[in-house]
Amino acid sequence: MKLAGKVAIITGGGRGIGLGIARRFTAEGARVIIAQRHLEDAEAAAAGTAMIARPLDVTDPARCAALVDFALERFGRLDVLVNNAGVAGLNGSLIDLDHCVWRQVIETNLSGTFYCGQAAARAMIRCGARGRILNIGSVNSFCAQKNAAAYVASKGGVLMLTKAMAVDLAPYGIRVNCLAPGSILVERNRVALTAQASLGQAIPLGAPGSVEDVAAAAAFLASDESAFITGAALVIDGGFLSYARME
Ligand code: NDP
Repeated sequence: MKLAGKVAIITGGGRGIGLGIARRFTAEGARVIIAQRHLEDAEAAAAGTAMIARPLDVTDPARCAALVDFALERFGRLDVLVNNAGVAGLNGSLIDLDHCVWRQVIETNLSGTFYCGQAAARAMIRCGARGRILNIGSVNSFCAQKNAAAYVASKGGVLMLTKAMAVDLAPYGIRVNCLAPGSILVERNRVALTAQASLGQAIPLGAPGSVEDVAAAAAFLASDESAFITGAALVIDGGFLSYARME
């Protein structure tokens, strides 16, 4: 088992990609805390498993710090943080983008990553863990998409924040990496992605990925197998970013 004895927090861990990572980490021997705004959903996901569900709004730095304190009180340590909580953002053209929507997307996807990341790094240093932080970016960390300015900016920011965190935290032995998924089937997008006939043609491997595909990459980056990797981005997109379809 890759993560035996490790303690991990996964924000937004009650559904979608976060839940896929939480299940994989549990199977790899980690003690896992999943946290999101709707506690009842997280509790339902944790029911019958060893996972612990906690409430969290990543836009509130005090709540991020309280969640990390909970992990230390319960387990005496924190080894892994996965900054997965995020809101999707096809919010219309830049021309019409409401500044409140802009703030909400940036505050959740980018600032939330900073708030939780800072709190976790402080805790990892305090408990002497050589921690690992995984930030969930996107293919939109590298390229834009129409009608998604706030989302694209937030995920571009997550990539550069990952690098800044990696540099600042390296002296403490904490590694920070970014996972950049392409189209991944989750409950939220299943109908839309399935209806998008052209999507398979834009993905060299022919179809969207699964949460298990992302979870496998997360388990690698959270484990000692990636001991010399920090500040990196691992793209999980079936070749989407490598393919400028000309034909
Ligand atoms: P889902 O919508 O299925 O899950 C999002 C999770 O984030 C939920 O658990 C939600 O719970 C939580 N969340 C949202 N806002 C907050 C908040 N303010 N505080 C705490 N938790 C919050 O999305 P996905 O699983 O698809 O996405 C997960 C991550 O992967 C996101 O960062 C997304 O941008 C990224 N991603 C996804 C792709 C995909 O194709 N699925 C592609 C590329 C990137 P609650 O509402 O209860 O708070």
